[in-house]
Amino acid sequence: MRIVLLGFPGSGKGTQAKMMAEKYRVPQISTGDILRAAVADKTEIGKKVAAVMAAGKLVSDDIVIDAVTDRLRGTESRRGFVLDGFPRTVAQADGLAVLLAQRSQRLDAVLSLEVTDEELVDRISGRRVCETCNHVTHVRKVGSALECPDCEGKLVQRSDDEIATVRNRLAVYREKTQPLQEYYAKDTVGLTAVDGMGFIDEIQERLLVALRDLGVN
Ligand code: ADP
Ligand code: ZN
Repeated sequence: MRIVLLGFPGSGKGTQAKMMAEKYRVPQISTGDILRAAVADKTEIGKKVAAVMAAGKLVSDDIVIDAVTDRLRGTESRRGFVLDGFPRTVAQADGLAVLLAQRSQRLDAVLSLEVTDEELVDRISGRRVCETCNHVTHVRKVGSALECPDCEGKLVQRSDDEIATVRNRLAVYREKTQPLQEYYAKDTVGLTAVDGMGFIDEIQERLLVALRDLGVN
C-alpha cells in the first residue's frame, strides 16, 4: 500500500501515519522526522536546513526529494509506505510522480485529514515531543510532567511550535501545500478527505474505513 497523508501542521498526520504504517507493516516516511534527525545529528544537510525549519519555512524541494528518493530505494519500502509531510509543494508531487513511474508503481490513496483552525493551534501549542524517542503527546494528557511515558526521556516543545512560528507554518501550508488537494483530486488517484476531529483511535478507524472503501489493504 502506497499512501500519502496530507494535513495541516497539527492535523495529527504524524500520529495517524505512524499507526497506519504499523498496522500495514510498511515504513512511515516523515520528511519532518528525517530533517529533524539531520539537524540533531548536525549533518551537512542538517546545518543547511536548521534555520529554515526554525522559522517555519519550507526546506528546498531538492533536499527533501533527495531524502525521499533514498528512502524509497531502500528495500524496506518495497511493499509500500505511508508518506507523512511529503509532498508539500507541487514540485515535490511532480518529483514523487517521476520516482514512482521509474519503479512502475503508483499511489493507492491520498488521504487528507480535516481539522478546524482552532483545533490546529490548540494541538500545536500543547504538543510535547520526547527528545529521545520522538514520542508525541499533548499537555492535556501529560500535564506538566516532563518525562516521556514511553522511555522516560525528556518531553520538550518543538522550537517551531511556538505561536509566532505556528502562524507562519499555517500560512505557508495554505499557500504551498493546499494546492495539492486539487492536484490529487484531478489525478487518477483522487483525494479522500477524512474528518480529523475527535479521539485518536476514532480518527484512525475512519482512515482505515476510507482505505477499505477505496479497496486498499
Ligand atoms: P508539521 O506538519 O507539523 O509542520 P513536519 O514535521 O511535517 O511538521 O515539518 C516540520 C518542518 O520541516 C516544516 O515546517 C519544514 O520546515 C520542514 N519540512 C518537512 N517536510 C517538508 C517538505 N516535504 N518540504 C519542505 N520542508 C519540509
Ligand atoms: Zn521517549
